[in-house]
Amino acid sequence: MLGLMQEWPLLCHKVIDHAANYHGDREVVSRSVEGPIHRTNYRNTRARALAFARRLELDDVRPDDRIATMAWNTWRHLEAWYGITGLGAIYHTLNPRLFPQQLVWIMNDAEDSMLFVDLTFLPLIEKIAGSVPTLRRIIVLTDREHMPQTSLANVDCYEEWLAEGDGDFTWRDFDERTAAGMCYTSGTTGNPKGVLYSHRSNVLHAMASIFPDVIGMSSGDTMMPVVPFFHANAWGTSFAAPMAGSRLVLPGPGMDGKSIYEMLTNEKVTVTAAVPTVWLMLLQYLEKENGSLPDLDRVFIGGSACPRSVIETFQNRYGVKVRHGWGMTEMSPIGSVCVLNPDHDSLSADQRLDVQAKQGQPFFGVEMKITDDDDNAMPHDGRTFGRLKVRGPAVASAYYKGDGAEQFDSDQWFDTGDVAHIDEHGYMQVTDRSKDVIKSGGEWISSIALENLAVGHPAVAEAAVIGLPHPKWDERPLLIIIAKAECNPSKEEILDFMRDKVSKWWMPDDVVFVDAIPHTATGKILKTELRAQMKDYRFPGCES
Ligand code: ADP
Repeated sequence: MLGLMQEWPLLCHKVIDHAANYHGDREVVSRSVEGPIHRTNYRNTRARALAFARRLELDDVRPDDRIATMAWNTWRHLEAWYGITGLGAIYHTLNPRLFPQQLVWIMNDAEDSMLFVDLTFLPLIEKIAGSVPTLRRIIVLTDREHMPQTSLANVDCYEEWLAEGDGDFTWRDFDERTAAGMCYTSGTTGNPKGVLYSHRSNVLHAMASIFPDVIGMSSGDTMMPVVPFFHANAWGTSFAAPMAGSRLVLPGPGMDGKSIYEMLTNEKVTVTAAVPTVWLMLLQYLEKENGSLPDLDRVFIGGSACPRSVIETFQNRYGVKVRHGWGMTEMSPIGSVCVLNPDHDSLSADQRLDVQAKQGQPFFGVEMKITDDDDNAMPHDGRTFGRLKVRGPAVASAYYKGDGAEQFDSDQWFDTGDVAHIDEHGYMQVTDRSKDVIKSGGEWISSIALENLAVGHPAVAEAAVIGLPHPKWDERPLLIIIAKAECNPSKEEILDFMRDKVSKWWMPDDVVFVDAIPHTATGKILKTELRAQMKDYRFPGCES
């Protein structure tokens, strides 16, 4: 017997309807690309999103068309997402930090028909637009006054374009499984792969992310997603904040320590989210300027492992709670969050920090397991590593055009490519990407654990660990370090600092000091490049 309850499709535009109806005056504050701070609210955001959808229709955009955006987090980008999805078309976020050839590849794979681009990125688009034959119209996200000269054809000024969308429009109705958004993985190995979110997955993911033990958001909060909309579906914040009725602060192009600090303090942000490199930068700025964060209640940190020292500084020095999260583009993207619970009441302050450095528990809607290479489940003892696999309603069931099919098994388990252990309370800790784990004498060494340890040394600004060939052990860890300005630590000092905190056989065989460490377009250490840079390096004693 089926239940007698209504079918109410979970559609993205219902989120902005709700925000406009019940939190209509709640502000959406942005640092504009043109410079000034811009203020609007959810009521106006919905009105402009409706005009956006109507205007797309006038441009003959059809359901399922892929509409690209290359833009910072601003009110215009937000209304674009809702306008695109409200028509049944698909927003496709482009990461401007990718190489131009990768962008061309991605846009052609997605067959984008229109592009909304911020002023900042117009020069980049001028170089590549000619290589994307499906692209028939480009809209620059600005007003007439700021419209630049451009060599591109079929270009319009956003505010003028949008003004032509006035009139009545009602959101389209369709199946909740309809595609809503698209985001490509960074493709550090092979070509990028397209992840295609549905309305249903976006809405369910947003509902989960406002749970108190996930990001947690309410109508009393002011949320600032520093994570760009173009990184992994904005971590769901562009749906979660309006759904919760939280005031939204968007940092626009101001991604440096000073600009982020200004927005956090001037706008009294209570909850924010970004990758560890952003927070390392902010903490350095705070230290230098003797700043404080009186309004900030919690910071959500994910995308790469968050060093214990960052958690400690936020909490002990600035009184800001840290939520360490893990996820990936394929998971919409949040998969687990570390929040202490009564199971940890008896632990010392130090032990609690150790737990917080883990990536935590999945929330309702994510199933998780670790297996060996033959898919046998591994024990949850907090030590045994395995391949991390997940499934749930906001986890990809396939990549666009069927790429990477080997990562999905017949029971829907998705192999994340991460290696992790899970403790007796179900707290997961990522020990590596499977391709970065260091295989030494048949055992595995976690490069992430060593990096986090090294970065806790007061003279270290950034640390990376890679496995390099070793004649006896197969691979051994090499520690690569950027020292903080005006610091000059020795190899021995760093190794001594690490020595009693890690098993002897995990200790790096050598330390190399560098001026720069390569990063991916989403701020992760680019280990493929680092290994290439170090290909001629030999460990001491292995020179021949
Ligand atoms: P991109 O590679 O484009 O940045 P994702 O953001 O989807 O794409 O990257 C997901 C990967 O990032 C995960 O599989 C994992 O390896 C890593 N990651 C994300 N969050 C964490 C975290 N808190 N700790 C360690 N690794 C993380």
